[in-house]
Amino acid sequence: MEKPVRFDYVPAMKSFDVIVIGGGHAGCEAAAASARTGARTRLQTQKLETVGEMSCNPAIGGLGKGHLVREIDALDGVMGRLGDVSGIQFRLLNRSKGAAVQGPRSQIDRRLYREAMQAELAQTPNLELMAGTAESLIRDGDRVTGVVTESGVALSAGAVVLTTGTFLNGVIHKGDERTPAGRHGEAPSTGLAADLYGAGLQMGRLKTGTPARLDGRTIAWDRLEHQAADEQPVPFSFLTDRIEVPQITCGVTHTTAETHRIIAENLGESAVYGGHLSGRGPRYCPSIEDKVVRFADKTSHQIFLEPEGLDDPTVYPNGISTSVSDATQLAFLRTIPGLEEVEVFRFGYAIEYDYVDPRELTPALEVKKRPGLYLAGQINGTTGYEEAGAQGLMAGLNAARAAAGKPPIIFGRDQAYIGVMIDDLVTKGVTEPYRMFTSRAEYRLTLRADNADQRLTPLGIEAGVVGARRAEAFARKAAELAEATIVSRETLFTPKAAGELGIRVNADGQRRSIRDLLSFPSVTLDTFLPVRPGIADWSPQVREQITIDAGYAGYLDRQAADAEALRREEALALPVDLDYAAIGSLSNEVKEKLSRVQPRTLGQAGRIEGMTPGALTALLSHVKKAKAEA
Ligand code: FAD
Repeated sequence: MEKPVRFDYVPAMKSFDVIVIGGGHAGCEAAAASARTGARTRLQTQKLETVGEMSCNPAIGGLGKGHLVREIDALDGVMGRLGDVSGIQFRLLNRSKGAAVQGPRSQIDRRLYREAMQAELAQTPNLELMAGTAESLIRDGDRVTGVVTESGVALSAGAVVLTTGTFLNGVIHKGDERTPAGRHGEAPSTGLAADLYGAGLQMGRLKTGTPARLDGRTIAWDRLEHQAADEQPVPFSFLTDRIEVPQITCGVTHTTAETHRIIAENLGESAVYGGHLSGRGPRYCPSIEDKVVRFADKTSHQIFLEPEGLDDPTVYPNGISTSVSDATQLAFLRTIPGLEEVEVFRFGYAIEYDYVDPRELTPALEVKKRPGLYLAGQINGTTGYEEAGAQGLMAGLNAARAAAGKPPIIFGRDQAYIGVMIDDLVTKGVTEPYRMFTSRAEYRLTLRADNADQRLTPLGIEAGVVGARRAEAFARKAAELAEATIVSRETLFTPKAAGELGIRVNADGQRRSIRDLLSFPSVTLDTFLPVRPGIADWSPQVREQITIDAGYAGYLDRQAADAEALRREEALALPVDLDYAAIGSLSNEVKEKLSRVQPRTLGQAGRIEGMTPGALTALLSHVKKAKAEA
């Protein structure tokens, strides 16, 4: 049933360029981005005190997710900077692997983060925060033109961004209890769900879960292994020079055979295994019930005991989200080494909620059937703060641009992880909560966390979403980097000159640049100081960038050429009678998908789930060869 448009009893109409509904991770970035462009923005959220709340794990970043945080930061978003002032255990994941797959991550002091977010938004020009549930959308035909709050106040806007997270028709499951809620102790959002159903959008149910929160004072820390923070914390933000927050260790423990026995015996209490819940959960973040069932041969699973704050005794046991009853949770927790006498502040639960099939959206994150309405975050079937924040930033930016009559900003898959994620969502949809991985990006070598500013800050400046402070810092770094790049490419060494610096190369008469020589074992920028003392003045960021770029140089040139060729040929028409089975270099899976979808262009073929750049390049060369022979 469509809800009536409630203009009739409107006491006063306030008008904005953009209204953002929901002050979670998507909503905060959306509101901040919209306001940065100069748009008059209202953030309307249920409770101001939960703005910036971390619903689940107190951590930001990680593999793939850390890339998103850097990209948000490069576009002058807030998550990275605020993570830097609230991060209590910074660790660069995959440190021993290549820069392309390294992921900055930190545990976060939840209170510090929330407070920093609230302070940040409160002082953002052009942004107004207001508490209160948004109840329904105002429309003019199909176009969304505003919002009505639960107290009956109507607000008009050029564009509306919905970021209601797990709140749409949310139901919490625990043992045999079912409680309508958006999050522990918070009301679900039902009015807006009705509006979305009324629009005829494809919707579905998904679920996620959270573990119990433990009283850290009842944990036997001295009997546990500990994991320390990195000695040199790597910040999230390109604007942060140094992490000032004290760093902590976390504890490491594991489940036991007895833990698994108790869970297996009480599976019927679990929301999923008891058959109470239909939505699909995140495959990559399974509940402990899932782990016990799916990996029945494993007798132990690792658990990180992560303190939720510097002066907060609450501990988040990462790896054991659950929805069995309180009694069963307590029983299995106490079989875990170090937790034999643990007390629980709050028990774990699963939550099931509505999401909108993201194929209902344009790449600008606007609802196709409801122009003027943008969606971002968990409502689009994703999971995670970083995924939410990145979509929020794009939705807020594009909503503000639409309100100002400007075209949307859309990043390609070769420009940003943000581009990869949004393209995945709007072209493939989701069957389970979507989270980012580096393996989703075809152009991993160029889409690195370390160069996110170079990829995106100039585009953000052009789009009007980057403030003056960042633009100036970027200009300084870019000038320094440009100069260092010239030095590294144009300072050439004969084999003899290289030998004098202790670098052994073939005596082939070839002159090699600093950039070439940096890929030789144990050669660093310091190696060249005797002949180029100016290198000592380069900032650590520029040194890192030059070194990483040198390491990837060969691959990058090839990747850039492939990406350019595919981009040029996006519109290439594919013959309707193309026999995909005859293209030897394609996998059977790709052949089958291409035969089924029968894409009309190379670009469309590229958007089929599971297509790789390698497969596309093979398809391109097959079609070109066939055309040449015809
Ligand atoms: P949220 O952070 O949920 O924010 C939604 C905001 O909208 C809230 O502030 C709410 O008050 C507000 N709101 C809702 N309806 C209205 C309305 N009608 N009017 C005004 N305001 C409204 N992520 C992981 O990566 N791993 C996990 O293991 C994980 N587990 C989770 C477990 C639980 C129990 C929950 C609840 C979430 C979990 N998440 C997990 C997801 C993570 O919390 C979300 O991905 C992230 O917070 C989504 O951000 P968001 O901005 O889309 O929504």
